[in-house]
Amino acid sequence: MAHAACDHDHHNHGVAGDGLAAELAAAEARCATADQRLTAPRRRVLELLLQAGQPVKAYDLIASYAIDGPPAKPPTVYRALDFLEKQGFAHRIESLNAYVACRKEADGHAAAFLICDCCGATREIEPRASAEIIAAGASAGYALTAVTIEAHGLCGDCRG
Ligand SMILES: [Zn+2]
Ligand SMILES: [Zn+2]
Ligand SMILES: [Zn+2]
Repeated sequence: MAHAACDHDHHNHGVAGDGLAAELAAAEARCATADQRLTAPRRRVLELLLQAGQPVKAYDLIASYAIDGPPAKPPTVYRALDFLEKQGFAHRIESLNAYVACRKEADGHAAAFLICDCCGATREIEPRASAEIIAAGASAGYALTAVTIEAHGLCGDCRG
């Protein structure tokens, strides 16, 4: 995916082949346990996010959804994203207006992302500050249900 101009090569951080098949099978099993269905559109959108391995904008998902033929109808992709987000398979990255697959097993966890502004490599980390943010919210009278931290900079490869 093209990002800011830079003349070094960028890795693809996505999963493919057996790794991808295993992740999709695990997602299917997790859905079954939660009494949910990983329908074909939900599975396809998750597959695209896993293949990308970094945040993808909804319109890129719509464009690459169909392998042959016309692109997907936008509501199909948005509904699938909504499902994946609610079930903990994906996160929305507000600052990029994009979505990224979640590789953690826990539902509804606080999320923090290290985002490379050069190549787009995004790593999800354990947000140590989230408990403090939730506590600060509580003392201000807010019952917070979601905390997402987005940190921008350059990854190790791009700093090279
Ligand atoms: Zn996550
Ligand atoms: Zn980078
Ligand atoms: Zn770069």
